Amino acid sequence: MMNLENDVKYIKGVGPNRVQSLNKLGIFTLKDLITYYPRDYEDRSKPKKIIECQDGEDVLIEAIVVSRIVELKIRKNMAMYKLTVRDETGVCNITWFNQPYLKKQFIYGEKYSFFGKVHKKGSKLEMNSPVFDSKNTNKHTGKIVPIYPTTFSLPQNTLRQIIDNGVTQIANELEENLPQYILEKYNLLNINESIKKIHKPQNFEEFKLARRRLVFEELLIMQLSLLNLKSNWKKEQKGIKYSSEIKMSDVINDLPFKLTKAQLKVLEEIDADMENEKSMNRLLQGDVGSGKTVVSIIAAYKAVKSGYQVAIMAPTSILATQHLESFSKMLEKYNIKCELLISSVTKKNKEEILQKLQNGEIDILIGTHAILEENVVFKNLGLVVTDEQHRFGVRQRSKIVAKGNNPDVLVMTATPIPRTLALILYGDLDISIIDELPPNRKEIETYSVTKGMEERVNNFVRKQVKEGRQAYIVCPLVEENEEINAKSVLELSEKYKNEIFNDLSVEYVHGKMRPKEKDEIMQKFKDGEIDILISTTVIEVGVNVPNASIMIVENAERFGLAQLHQLRGRVGRGEYQSYCILKYNSNSEIARKRMKIMQDTTDGFIIAEKDLELRGSGEFFGTKQHGLPEFKIANLFEDMDILKEVQGLTLEIEREDAKLEKEENAGLKKLVDEKFSGRIEM
Ligand code: ADP
Ligand code: MG
Repeated sequence: MMNLENDVKYIKGVGPNRVQSLNKLGIFTLKDLITYYPRDYEDRSKPKKIIECQDGEDVLIEAIVVSRIVELKIRKNMAMYKLTVRDETGVCNITWFNQPYLKKQFIYGEKYSFFGKVHKKGSKLEMNSPVFDSKNTNKHTGKIVPIYPTTFSLPQNTLRQIIDNGVTQIANELEENLPQYILEKYNLLNINESIKKIHKPQNFEEFKLARRRLVFEELLIMQLSLLNLKSNWKKEQKGIKYSSEIKMSDVINDLPFKLTKAQLKVLEEIDADMENEKSMNRLLQGDVGSGKTVVSIIAAYKAVKSGYQVAIMAPTSILATQHLESFSKMLEKYNIKCELLISSVTKKNKEEILQKLQNGEIDILIGTHAILEENVVFKNLGLVVTDEQHRFGVRQRSKIVAKGNNPDVLVMTATPIPRTLALILYGDLDISIIDELPPNRKEIETYSVTKGMEERVNNFVRKQVKEGRQAYIVCPLVEENEEINAKSVLELSEKYKNEIFNDLSVEYVHGKMRPKEKDEIMQKFKDGEIDILISTTVIEVGVNVPNASIMIVENAERFGLAQLHQLRGRVGRGEYQSYCILKYNSNSEIARKRMKIMQDTTDGFIIAEKDLELRGSGEFFGTKQHGLPEFKIANLFEDMDILKEVQGLTLEIEREDAKLEKEENAGLKKLVDEKFSGRIEM
C-alpha cells in the first residue's frame, strides 16, 4: 500500500533541484502533490478552422505543413524557426525560438495539431511557440490540460508531468475516508476517481463531478473540525466568572440616549457569558453605525469594575484613536483609566504605558497590532475586544488572548456576513447580531452615475461644501502595491486640488504615508479644516466625522459591494442628510445590477446576500480576505450550494454522532484528526 506521507523526492522525475522548487509551492509529500489542484484548464480538445481564429486567443488548429522549416540565426545563441501550415480555410505562419530539434520534426504535406496563442495581422494568422502533435498522437493536444499555479523555477510542463506521475503512481490505491452513506446520499464520486479526474478530466462534466466531491470533503472536514473546536472550548476552558454585583445597567441608565432593542439583547447575551465561568467567545455582528462600540464599552465597564483589564484591538491607528476618545468620554466618570498604544507613541511614553499596564494602573489598553508585541504585558487581562475582525487572522486573535488567563473574547465586525457563511467562518464563536440602527437616522441617498455626469456631481459637492459640509472621495486600490496606489491617489488629487476644486481645501491620504502624517490629516478633517478628503480604502475604515455628508467613490465597479457599503457608512453619521455617489465606468450587466443594489437598499445583510447571488468570485471582502480560512479547492462564495448541503449534514452528524465514534464515521474522524495534527492552519 502506498504511503501518502512519502517525500516527493521519490516521485519519478523529481531530482534535488525540483524538490526545492516543489517545497516552495508547499509540496513536500506525495499527498501534497496529488492534492495540488489545477487553478485552471486549457481545452486543447476542440480544433478550430484557421479562418475562425480570433486575435489573441489560445487555439488548437489541425493543419498540413506546406513549407520547409526555415532556420534564421538572429544573433549568437538565438535562432528562429519558421513554418507555414494550412487547412482548407486559410494559412498560418508559425514561429519558434531556439529549438533546433524542430528541424527534423515535420514532414512536408503531413497533418499536425498545433496549440498556441494566435495573432491576426490583417488577413494573416500567426502562431507563436505552439505545442504540437503529429497525426493520431495526443501528447500535448487533443485533451483538456490542467494549469497549475507555479513559479518561474518550475515550468508548467515540468510540474504537470510530475503531478501526472504522482497521480499515476497512486493508481486506485487511495483510501476512501468519506463514509458510503454520505457518498450515496450526496451523489459523490469516490476519492480515486475524483483525484484522477480533477487532474485529467476528459470533459467539463467530469471536472465538475470531481470538484464537487473534493469541495464537499474539504468543507465537511472544516465544519466538523470547527464543531470539535467549539465543543472542546465550551467544555474545558474554565474562564473568568465576572461578578453579578457589577451591573451593566448602571452605565446603560446613564447614557445620553436609549439603547436599541437589539443592543440590549446583545448586551444580555454578553452579560450572561461574562458571568458564566466558561470563557466567552462571541462574534458581534452589526452594520456600520449600529452601535457596537457602545456595547463593547459597557462590557469593558463590567470587566474593569470586576477587577480586570481590557484590551481593545483596532485595525488602524485612526480607529484606535477614535475608540480611545469614545471610551474615555464614556468611562471617565467611573474612574476608569484608558490608554492608547499605537506605533507612533514615543519610546519614552511607551515605556511608561507598559509599566503602568503591568502595575495595573491602566484599566483599558486600546491599540493596533502594537498591542501584540511581546513586551506588552498585562497585570490581569480579562476581556479582549477585536474590532473589524476580518482584518485580523485567527492567529493574531489567539496571540492577544494568550496575554491573559483565558480572557473573554468579543470579536466585532461590521462586515455583514450572511448567517450561513458566518456559521462557517466563525464556527468556533457564538454569534450575536445587532440588526437595527439607532432611531432618527436619516437614510443615505445613493446614486450611481457614469462619466457624463461628472460635472453635475462636482457642482453638487461644491454646493454642499459651501453649506458647511465635508466630502470624501475614495479611489480604488489598483493592486496590492501601495506605491502604485499612492500614485493614482496623487494624480486624482492633483486634478481635484488644482483644477476642479481649487477654491476649496482639498487633501489626500494614502497607505504610503507615515502614520503620523496620516493621522494629522485625518485629525484636520475631523476638525473641519479640510473640505474634501481624497483617499484609498485602506486607511479610512471606521472614521467618525459627523459633518461629512458626501461619499464619492471613483470606479465603484472595482469594489466589492460589502466594501461599498462600508464606505457609505462613513457618511450619515450626523444630523445632516447624506449622499453616496458611485461613479462607475463599465458597460457590464453585472456592474449595473450591483450599482442598482446599492441604490435600492442600505441593509448590509441584504447587500451581502445579493452580492453572493450575483458575483462569481471571492471579491466579497474586497481583494484581501484576511482572517478567512484557506481552502485548497473550495471557494466559499462559489460553493454556497455545497456549503448548505454540508451544513445540513454537519448538523445531522452533530445530533447522531458528535464525537465521531460510530464505526461508519471512522474515516471522518481520521480526516478531522489529520487536520488538527497537520500543517494546515485554521
Ligand atoms: P459602530 O461601532 O457599530 O459602527 P458606533 O458605536 O460607533 O457604531 O455608533 C455610531 C454612533 O451612534 C455613535 O456616535 C454612538 O454614540 C451613537 N449611538 C450608538 N447607539 C445609539 C443609540 N441606541 N441611540 C442613539 N445613538 C446611538
Ligand atoms: Mg465601529
